Amino acid sequence: MIQGPGTSGLILNEPLLWEKGKKGRSAFSMVEQDVPEAELAAGLAGGAPFFPDLGELDVVRHYTRLSQWNFGIDSGLYPLGSCTMKYNPKINEKMAATPGISSAHPMLEESLCQGVLQLLFELQDFLASITGMDAVSLQPAAGAQGEMTAMLMFAACFKKRGERRDKILIPDTAHGTNPASAALCGFSSVPLMSGADGVLSAASVAEKMDESTAGIMLTNPNTLGLFEENIRAITDIVHQKGGLVYGDGANMNAVMGMVDFKRCGVDAMHLNLHKTFSTPHGGGGPGAGPVCVVAELEPFLPVPRAVKKGQGYGLSFGSTDSIGRVHAFFGNFSVLVRAYSYIMSMGPANLKKASQLAVLNAVYVRERLRDTLALAYEKPSMHECVFSDKKQHKWKVTTLDMAKRLIDHGFHPPTIYFPLVVPGAIMIEPTETECKDDLDQFVVVFKDIVREAESDGERLRQAPTRTKVRRLDETRAARKPCLTG
Ligand SMILES: *Cc1c(COP(=O)(O)O)cnc(C)c1O
Repeated sequence: MIQGPGTSGLILNEPLLWEKGKKGRSAFSMVEQDVPEAELAAGLAGGAPFFPDLGELDVVRHYTRLSQWNFGIDSGLYPLGSCTMKYNPKINEKMAATPGISSAHPMLEESLCQGVLQLLFELQDFLASITGMDAVSLQPAAGAQGEMTAMLMFAACFKKRGERRDKILIPDTAHGTNPASAALCGFSSVPLMSGADGVLSAASVAEKMDESTAGIMLTNPNTLGLFEENIRAITDIVHQKGGLVYGDGANMNAVMGMVDFKRCGVDAMHLNLHKTFSTPHGGGGPGAGPVCVVAELEPFLPVPRAVKKGQGYGLSFGSTDSIGRVHAFFGNFSVLVRAYSYIMSMGPANLKKASQLAVLNAVYVRERLRDTLALAYEKPSMHECVFSDKKQHKWKVTTLDMAKRLIDHGFHPPTIYFPLVVPGAIMIEPTETECKDDLDQFVVVFKDIVREAESDGERLRQAPTRTKVRRLDETRAARKPCLTG
């Protein structure tokens, strides 16, 4: 048994309902028969599939147990770096399920859905003011699609200017979706090395930026959790050469209400509503990746967009320069409702405070673990902190071993082996919704695991031992999933 803090209690054995069935059990009661029995017509009889006989409690317990095998933010700390797995207040779920909202048909006439249009219009406005940008499209369904939307807009903008630019600068710390989105729009990516301090230098950008380069895709704070402090100098260089600046805003949780991206020189950026603005994620969707742009790029935004029309609201199918639709109707509407509800319930002051607490929590974990694990960069970190397994090498214990051992203690592991610039990376993003007690518990467990690395490394290499399955071949599990138990 594992001593000390942490949670556990997985139910390891749960047969299939087919194995649990016992002849004669039933989950319903029929009214007593008061008509004579009759023979079934021959054509209707026979060939019924086999279903197990089960009581109601058999079924309820089965599904409740299965649900407990899953790990979610509602069951514990989920410090997955770069993913912002924060708690999503239930009120936002309730708002998204409000009957008038959840049943609104996307083809309703404008006069019959004024409330919905107002919500979309105001959300565009909120996101513009939170980022400092001028105009917003709510259509993209994910961060990656937001990136692609912006790259299509960059391409359309250069076409309109009559310029040929086919390259784009992408730092080595970027999320893998950045080069993929650029490639889909015909740009080839030019990698930029971040400096020894983990951030980009203006000189490295100046060296690569030229008149055949469309611009740069920059994540700020970057994927190491560091603020790109040279951002103004970098965006000036790109603009002087006629290029455009894309901001990957997936890390907005660190800077809500604190950074004006337009003043930083960003021309277009996406937000991940499912990370920062209260949509549960991790199961693969649905999400939303709205794109916010400066006035110069507004004509290229996808249509339709919600606009003010007279006293009310309507849709604009806008300019002939638009890149067109990137999603049916208005995007993933229920995700937009959650974001709207979250922003309304927080207000400007609390959004800013949420970011401050997210940063405070990451700095706290970083400082408490800095003697236990090797810190990758000394620069002050924002919403996440990156360590490596360098100090554990001498005991032949790796990042993977420690991450797997955390599962035995009931914690979701942090992001590991990413970003690639830090060998054996351990990237921890605690988010603002964790209290000090829970962070302390995580730190104590991590310190215990590292002590175990020294005294009983084999135990870590065998972990996890308290789960339904042990070490998966993760590549095969992803490529050839076996979903039938
Ligand atoms: C999550 C993330 C993305 C991609 O967002 P999706 O919604 O998963 O497509 C892009 N960039 C960064 C920095 C991210 O963390």
